[in-house]
Amino acid sequence: MGNYAIAAPEFVTLPVSSAQPFPVRRIYCVGRNYREHVKEMGGDPVRDEPFFFMKPADAILQNGETMPYPSGTQDLHPEVELVVAMSGGGSNIAQEKVNDMIFGYAVGLDMTKRDLQAQFKAKGRPWEMSKAFDASAPCAEITPKTQSGVLAKGRIELKVNGQIRQTGDLDEMIWNVPELISKLSQIVTLLPGDLIFTGTPAGVGPVVKGDKLEATVTGLAPLIITIG
Ligand code: MN
Repeated sequence: MGNYAIAAPEFVTLPVSSAQPFPVRRIYCVGRNYREHVKEMGGDPVRDEPFFFMKPADAILQNGETMPYPSGTQDLHPEVELVVAMSGGGSNIAQEKVNDMIFGYAVGLDMTKRDLQAQFKAKGRPWEMSKAFDASAPCAEITPKTQSGVLAKGRIELKVNGQIRQTGDLDEMIWNVPELISKLSQIVTLLPGDLIFTGTPAGVGPVVKGDKLEATVTGLAPLIITIG
């Protein structure tokens, strides 16, 4: 029981290829960061300032697990994303310093209740409950940057039951990783343990119970989950 009024919750970790696990502090996500996805969502892919939202750290679902189909939606969408894991941080980080603060990269899925998100948008309400629900952040193991190098291009893809659903290249981001993280650090102080989901390419659509999702970024461990 220790020195707390109740048993303290355990913090969330992600496995790291050939290293100790990575402790997760906060999860930040960026909206609308690939041109073709902005278009399919009915937006204008001008270079508007990036906007951010969050998921709780314990929304992580580990690789290989089954994600229970969540309540309150009939339109669950996976968004395949490059996830950046921070080993450094600070506020007002210069773009040129960002890559030195990256521990590594992983493949993640930003799971979204698209019907609920549309209702919240229409009413001008926060999206949060359509994005930050339990198990809404499946994430594979982290590959340290010492193994992968700095990732600025490469295929990013989602297959559902073996069929390609989403496809793009990391170099199609509207705001690249150093720009995104520099801008995010003007809003919040980033710290080691933070994860940043960097946006999704085009092709989003619904998944249903029994679907097998395989998310990949060239050079990183694939993320495979089942909807249950
Ligand atoms: Mn997303």
